[in-house]
Amino acid sequence: MKDLLVRARLRFVYKRIVPPDVQAVLRRLGLHGHQAFVVGGCVRDLVIGNKPQDWDVTTDARPEEVIRIFERTVPSGVKHGTVTVLTSARPVEVTTYRIDVDYSDYRHPDKVVYTRDLREDLARRDLTINAMALGASGELVDPYGGLRDLELKVIRAVGDPAERFREDALRMMRAVRFSAQLAMIIEPATMAAIKAQANLLRHVSAERVRDEFNKILLSPAPAASLEVLRETGLLVVFLPELLEGVGFEQNVHHAFTVWEHTLIAVDTIPAALPLRLAALLHDVAKPRTLTVIAGERHFYDHENLGAGMARSILRRLKYDNGTIERVTHLIRHHMALHLSPQMKDSAVRRLIARVGLDNIRDLLELRRADRMGSGKKPGPVSQGTLRLLNRIERVLKEDSAFGLKDLAIDGNDVMRVSGMKPGPAVGRILRQLFEEVLETPELNRRELLEARARELSGTEEAPLGERL
Ligand code: ATP
Ligand code: MG
Repeated sequence: MKDLLVRARLRFVYKRIVPPDVQAVLRRLGLHGHQAFVVGGCVRDLVIGNKPQDWDVTTDARPEEVIRIFERTVPSGVKHGTVTVLTSARPVEVTTYRIDVDYSDYRHPDKVVYTRDLREDLARRDLTINAMALGASGELVDPYGGLRDLELKVIRAVGDPAERFREDALRMMRAVRFSAQLAMIIEPATMAAIKAQANLLRHVSAERVRDEFNKILLSPAPAASLEVLRETGLLVVFLPELLEGVGFEQNVHHAFTVWEHTLIAVDTIPAALPLRLAALLHDVAKPRTLTVIAGERHFYDHENLGAGMARSILRRLKYDNGTIERVTHLIRHHMALHLSPQMKDSAVRRLIARVGLDNIRDLLELRRADRMGSGKKPGPVSQGTLRLLNRIERVLKEDSAFGLKDLAIDGNDVMRVSGMKPGPAVGRILRQLFEEVLETPELNRRELLEARARELSGTEEAPLGERL
């Protein structure tokens, strides 16, 4: 009964939500005597009521027929049967029904064979919820029970899960990813097949694993899925360092092991990729830095060692340099937002200069998540952090400098007043001026700094190497 209602709603939704130019592609193929459906992720999203990202079309027309039928096409993936049709509103990928055969490398089919049977095309897809198609009058084709599984909130492989994961090992990550994004449970046979073959993920490129992992991290509550990645043996394939924290007890400040603490921090921090990655990796070095002094457990320098480990992990997973820099910076300074009573204003200015004003908000998020993950602290922000934030606010009101670019003069000024030529010595003078301004913000005035630069250039001794 429910099924009938959903199907009726879909006919209505099709007309209202599928963009007119995509509907026109289906109609046009139909007029030329072909079958055509929107398929895969967009149908799943339509059923759930989510906004589809992209519209994929599947058809029994061969690529050369598709090229003949439409005026503007790009043979974007003709080897795999895909032609991109350029409509006035968007490019639409049109793919010929196909069967993928012989996956000898656990990731790519050795060849694709075209078919005239939609059910065979749907059979090659990864999960039942991704193996549905919707035709030009909104009729649903769902031979593998995708609708039922969406209703039951169950992730299930199409056909024999073990075989499907041997064909393309990335599907195991996709199963976990959709379970995270849609808050669905992986059904037992699919789960068992992942556990049995998780190590096949080694054959998949770092980029593909990373893209699925990012989607897991950005899902509403990733902790449960991170736990699934660990239990199934997928995590050990691409992020074994994190497992060092499993069962690893901390100290009196913590109720949870490093791994449990990490999961809570990831769930707590806002869903932005650099923040989620920083929360995931901020304590990755704790197990390696344990020292026990008089029965007390310490993790000296775990933030610096952790930043280094995070760098090599993120490089291995092929993250871009911008992400790597941001994440490692946050990890390196994740202990910094705390005011000790004897900190002078100059130390607060130094901290802002070191950490960067732009990063303070992110560091505060990380600090909050870290604290919530301790299981021992009464609130998300400590008194020490609050005091520091107040001091930072006060210090920011002064007209001080927090980086070389905030100085009242620049390298050209230094050269003009001193007669120096461009070179490293100019930079040395600027950094010296900056040091002095950090100590005494009132110095940050053009005429004072110019005079001081003249002085420094006259008295500065060349480094030993240059004098010899
Ligand atoms: P997203 O919302 O992330 O785009 P999606 O399901 O649309 O999710 P795509 O990668 O765009 O994912 O793939 C489109 C469709 O192609 C999927 O819905 C599925 O039917 C099929 N598919 C994608 N990747 C695989 C795979 N590795 N194995 C089998 N079928 C796949
Ligand atoms: Mg998609």
